Amino acid sequence: MRLSKSFVKTLRDAPKDETATNGALLIRAGYIHKEMAGVYDYLPLGLRVLERIKGIIREELNKIGCEEVLMTSLQNPEPWEKTGRFSDQEVDIWFKTELASGGVLGLAPTHEEPITTLMKSYISSYKDLPLYVYQFQTKFRNELRAKSGILRGREFLMKDLYSFHSSEEDLNRFYHEVEIAYGRIFDRLGIGEDTFETFASGGIFSKYSHEFQTILPVGEDTIYYNNDKSIVLNKEVFNQEVLDDLGVPNEKFEETTAAEVGNIFKLKFKYSEPIGLKFIDEDNQQKTVYMGCYGIGVSRLMGVIAEKYSDSKGLVWPEMVAPFKYYLIGIGDTGLAEAEKFYDGREDTVLFDDRDRRPGEKFADSELIGIPFRIVISDKTLATNEAEITDRRTGESWRVGIKELFEKF
Ligand code: ATP
Ligand code: MG
Repeated sequence: MRLSKSFVKTLRDAPKDETATNGALLIRAGYIHKEMAGVYDYLPLGLRVLERIKGIIREELNKIGCEEVLMTSLQNPEPWEKTGRFSDQEVDIWFKTELASGGVLGLAPTHEEPITTLMKSYISSYKDLPLYVYQFQTKFRNELRAKSGILRGREFLMKDLYSFHSSEEDLNRFYHEVEIAYGRIFDRLGIGEDTFETFASGGIFSKYSHEFQTILPVGEDTIYYNNDKSIVLNKEVFNQEVLDDLGVPNEKFEETTAAEVGNIFKLKFKYSEPIGLKFIDEDNQQKTVYMGCYGIGVSRLMGVIAEKYSDSKGLVWPEMVAPFKYYLIGIGDTGLAEAEKFYDGREDTVLFDDRDRRPGEKFADSELIGIPFRIVISDKTLATNEAEITDRRTGESWRVGIKELFEKF
């Protein structure tokens, strides 16, 4: 990508109403644009980060046999009325709209009801099970507070996976596979060390659900962890009874704030029963399908990673999610010509700052935008037939020969 050809501009200051670090930094660095509280546009750089996060999640889910779909955001009230969740008293974050031809539609805050209904067309026998279906989908929630940048949007991107099984054992087996896949996803996103599977309240059908909480000062959740962080609980279930139940009645726990980046639920019959998703089992009996659901906040993750990986100069993306690997600057006539040559054919990994700007401005922007490695080719480095590489994370710089640069980078 050539910065000279892009409308992306870095800003000296973030909008005054953007108080969250992630929002302010991402706006200043040209990744997102703020429309209003909790509503953001993703610009070319931001979109690339979202796509890289999605790519990692997609790879890990496909590995455990999941199938990707894309469902509609527009919600027919009918299936939601069967579960009681179309009511604003029951679910207080609905956006609803009137149809020109009469009647009401909702904008999906989640997709349990429609996917359970959809599967009635495809599941009839035990031979159809198990099934694991997911999507990356825009969700709409009329959240009361939206002051955490993209950590809490009124419109946001979620990965939601739903699983369908003929027995509780099979649901338990797959639930465990997802736990492991989630661990791999958060490791690959660079937040594995600070992300903990956390006991949370489970709803009606299972005792606990699990959240994946990333320790973060501005996180909206409060969690408690024991000495070696092997047991982590959300505040909502942190009490003596639960500690006894988990067999850790006397351990010392510390409190911290965290952001929920994902969660997993054993739904069992919570939606399949009222919606009537059934199958004929091997014994010829009609039974209700067992379900699980598994969410990840894709756009929230981008905000969490931005918060975690930043310093006083700007963003510091981990390589796996960075929009580009290299930030290229050419200085002087021959430096610029050589940079052009290097850029040719590397448009997808190199962000080329070919704008007519002073080198100082380009250096500052390279730090604000937070691409992992900066490559500077100048008349000075070319005097020894070299380029200068700088690691954004450590600030370390070193020289590589031009030949090596073209061959290995
Ligand atoms: P929270 O407690 O943070 O409101 P939730 O329990 O409502 O989350 P789910 O409905 O299970 O979350 O959604 C799945 C995932 O989507 C969450 O784990 C979170 O990462 C993300 N998420 C939820 N609400 C938002 C939001 N308003 N903006 C961005 N991401 C969100
Ligand atoms: Mg919520």
